[in-house]
This record gives sequence, structure tokens and C-alpha cells, in this order.
Amino acid sequence: MTAQLLDGKKVASEIKAAVAKKAAELKAQGVTPGLTVILVGENPASKVYVGQKEKACIEAGFNSVLLEMPGTATQEELVETIARLNADPSVHGILVQLPLPRQIDPDAVIAAIDPAKDVDGFHPVNVGRLVAGLPGMVPCTPLGVVRLLEAYGLPLAGKHAVIVGRSAIVGKPMAHLLLARDCTVTICHSRTADLASFTRQADILVAAVGRPKTITADMVKPGAIVVDVGINRLETGLVGDVDFGPASAVAGWITPVPGGVGPLTIAMLLENTLSAAMR
Ligand code: NAP
Repeated sequence: MTAQLLDGKKVASEIKAAVAKKAAELKAQGVTPGLTVILVGENPASKVYVGQKEKACIEAGFNSVLLEMPGTATQEELVETIARLNADPSVHGILVQLPLPRQIDPDAVIAAIDPAKDVDGFHPVNVGRLVAGLPGMVPCTPLGVVRLLEAYGLPLAGKHAVIVGRSAIVGKPMAHLLLARDCTVTICHSRTADLASFTRQADILVAAVGRPKTITADMVKPGAIVVDVGINRLETGLVGDVDFGPASAVAGWITPVPGGVGPLTIAMLLENTLSAAMR
């Protein structure tokens, strides 16, 4: 391996410690940051993610509330619950864990959250603010990627960033965040013809696909920064979207999976909740 590791776990723990310190100061002024997570149904992966978020909130000294609703809950019931939380001044952040059961339209649910409490940054108002370059809640995973690169002092301006994946949760906000930092941005997706011809031009390559070994070593420009957002559960354990071993012989910097982007996502959720509480 020639690439240097971008240690997300280490950077996230530094950020979490800073958040806990600020939360304690805020608490001394009578405000405890509060995050309410709503989990609908029994999705096992969602339960794991929600558990990680709860643990991180408690460690940071936040009020952490988990509202579990049955998988048969209606959209109306969920929207009513959100309206109640919107009106509750002790709740600074509201997060609805996705995916939702089929009978519920996730767009309608996200639109029901007060944008000021939308710590996931998925509300159309926050999406619009990001695109317009205005302050707002920014989605945790792409924000975490930027924070990780900045923590290592890696220059972004003028670099060609190629993002593989165009979801509303990762790929699209990632593109806007890197554009705002003066990268030249290319977005690829499942209909991109000759993906490798794009990835090989990337100074910064972000993989957010959800398919193991989408990025093989021959698709990486020598010395590139490779950020693997993918989380794929195989029988052998968690892997990302990048063929880590061979790719790290070519890249200059690379994130591991696990221990790369994942911990930053949680750290950014804490930061978003803290900033909502401070406001
Ligand atoms: P998603 O909504 O399924 O989007 C996947 C994207 O990849 C789509 O834009 C899709 O293109 C594109 N794609 C699929 N196959 C492709 C291929 N062969 N070549 C090029 N592009 C291809 O997934 P997501 O929510 O963005 O998540 C992506 C991955 O990140 C998943 O593994 C997820 O578990 C992981 N993730 C990790 C974190 C974290 O904290 N580390 C957070 C969120 C997500 P089309 O648009 O054309 O379909």
C-alpha cells in the first residue's frame, strides 16, 4: 500500500470531543441540545444506524430521544408526530430514519420537518440553500467528507473532483459542497458511458454507489484522493465501493471502510444538532 489513510474515526472523535465541550457550555446556560430520531418499522440496518446515533448523542451530553413507530404507521400519523416535535422547543433536531415503509412518501415526510430542525439537511429549503450558497443544514455524509479532507489539509481549489453517484443524500450535495470549495466537479451515475475515462481524471474521487468493487485500481489516477462512501454488507463483513487493497497501491490518499466516512457522518449529525440548539 502506498496511499496514506484518511482516518475518519480519529477525525470524528476530535470533532465529537469539541461538540461535547460546546454542548456542556450551552447546558450551563440552560439549553441541552436535543435530537429526536423517528424509526418506523423494523429494518435491521436502520436499527443499527439509529443505535449509533443515540450512543453518539448521549456521549456528547445531548438529550437523545428515539420514537419508534410500527411498520404499519400511516403517513398522517408520522406527519402529526413531526408537527408535535416542530412545536416542541426542547427538540432542536428531528431525524426520520430512511428508508420508510412503502405506504409513506418520504418526500412528504421530509417536507413536514421544520427546516431549522432538519439536521439531515434533506428538506427542499435546505437543499435550495446549499445550491444557492446560503447557510443552512447540510447533509451529514457529504459534509463529513469535506471535513475529513480539510482535517488533513488537502487542498481542494482547482482540483478535479469526480463523484460517482447522484443521490439526493450523498452525490448531489457532495457536488455542491466541492463546487463551493472551487473544485471542478464531474458527476457520474449508472448511465455514464465509460465511467473509467472520468474516474481516471479525478484528483479527488468520491464513490457513493452501493456496489462493491465499482472502483477498481485501474480506474484510479496515480496519487489521487479516493473517498469511499459505500457501505456494503457482505457475509465477510462491511466493504465499500472501492477495491481497497489494489486501489490503495495507486491512490495517494484513501478512506478505509469501515472507519472512513461513516464516523464523520455521525459527527456531522452532532454538529448540525448543536448548531440548531445554539440558534
Ligand atoms: P443510492 O441512492 O442507491 O444512489 C446510488 C448512486 O449510484 C445512483 O446515483 C446510481 O445511479 C449510481 N450507480 C449505481 N450503479 C452504478 C454504476 N454501475 N456506475 C456508476 N454509478 C452507479 O445510494 P446512496 O444513498 O447515495 O448511497 C450510496 C452508498 O453510500 C451506499 O452504499 C450507502 O450505504 C452508502 N452510504 C454511506 C453513508 C455513510 O455514512 N458512510 C451514508 C449514506 C450512504 P442512478 O442515479 O443512475 O441510478
